[in-house]
Amino acid sequence: MKIELTPAQEDLKRRAYAAGLEFREAAFKWDEEDHVDYRAVSDRFGELGFFGLTAPVEWGGQGGDCMDYLLAVSEAIRASGSWIVGEPLFCTTGPGPSMLMLSDNAALREKYLRDVLSGRKGCAIALTEPAHGSDLTYLETTAVRDGDSWVINGSKSFVTGAIYNELYATFVRFDGIPGPRGIGAVLIPSDAPGFSMSRGPVFLGTRSIPHGDVELVDCRIPAENLIMGPGQFPKLMSAFNMERLHNCAVSLGGMMAAYDEAAAHVQQREQFGRPVIEFQHVYHTLADVAVTIEAHRLLSYQAAANAEDGKYPDMQQVSMAKLFGGTKIPEVAMKCAELMGGKGVTSVTVTQRIVRDAVTNVVAGGAPAVLKNVIAASLFPGRKFPQTRD
Ligand SMILES: Cc1cc2nc3c(=O)[nH]c(=O)nc-3n(C[C@H](O)[C@H](O)[C@H](O)COP(=O)(O)OP(=O)(O)OC[C@H]3O[C@@H](n4cnc5c(N)ncnc54)[C@H](O)[C@@H]3O)c2cc1C
Repeated sequence: MKIELTPAQEDLKRRAYAAGLEFREAAFKWDEEDHVDYRAVSDRFGELGFFGLTAPVEWGGQGGDCMDYLLAVSEAIRASGSWIVGEPLFCTTGPGPSMLMLSDNAALREKYLRDVLSGRKGCAIALTEPAHGSDLTYLETTAVRDGDSWVINGSKSFVTGAIYNELYATFVRFDGIPGPRGIGAVLIPSDAPGFSMSRGPVFLGTRSIPHGDVELVDCRIPAENLIMGPGQFPKLMSAFNMERLHNCAVSLGGMMAAYDEAAAHVQQREQFGRPVIEFQHVYHTLADVAVTIEAHRLLSYQAAANAEDGKYPDMQQVSMAKLFGGTKIPEVAMKCAELMGGKGVTSVTVTQRIVRDAVTNVVAGGAPAVLKNVIAASLFPGRKFPQTRD
């Protein structure tokens, strides 16, 4: 088997790198001020043709696949050194739009999908609650039918893009049905009555776009805003695998950005009258980092290339890739920072930001321990690995 990108994929990679480069300098300011003009960044990525990458052309998408998504997000992040440039792609192609594409509700798609794919309305995802993160099947946010509406009550936390996005694909429990059978999702517009959001806590890294809080108090949305009702948890998680692929792209892009910066530095910096790259510790470290990046790239390519219908990554493959990338990037970024000496931990480097972003991202989209549960369950399908007391 030969692993080779097509000319179209190489072109997409080049275009995404060039797009990311436009924001390399601005990203320092975004991080320092914990603020970004997100609309301007998103509009620019739309102009450059990066919205709706995996969605069908008849809906206004680009008819591409998960490999396109992985390449575009990782290269834009590599060039900019910033996770922010992945967000416009996440909100127009990631798990939220994937849920709309997988939904049986044609009326909902008709109402929103074109707006989402064109970037007119960004779609974030709201799963986590203050008391429930890893134990998604315990969610407490409720959806109750009242005539032509759903009435939603509950709280969501750590919602990336809260305050900037117009739509929130929100996981809810229907009719008090316990366990995963009761979980489904609805699409809540930010102007729905009873919906409010705030910036939430300050984070160590992944700054400028908040991971905010959403409050739903008798929040009323039209009945047609149902994405998936109870009993469709596996299908919901299938769309959620796009979140995991996004995490892979973010860690791949971040690793490459740190490597590029460190590799350039050690070739130019001299100590003891020699470029520091000539010291064995330095070139061995670069070799170790390069091997880790290639291993992550191959796991991620496998998950993207084998995605069902080109759109929905396989649970086991994407979980393995996310676990590897998410747990290795802090190590890679720290090694790269070390190679740059004191400069590596100052605000002039991209790498110090990637160290903080990497640590912040370790549990985002699923903690490593939970990914291991998922992977083990898929390796031993006949065996039960119960996480609950009962
Ligand atoms: C940067 C960032 C962005 C995020 N963006 C979003 C978003 O857009 N939307 C959203 O809904 N959420 C988002 N989240 C939330 C994220 O998905 C959760 O933080 C994550 O699922 C972990 O949940 P928790 O924080 O409640 O940790 P907990 O569930 O409390 O887990 C804490 C630790 O306990 C251990 N643990 C828990 N359960 C098990 C188990 N069964 N087996 C073994 N160990 C276990 C693990 O070590 C885990 O790390 C984001 C989080 C971060 C940090």
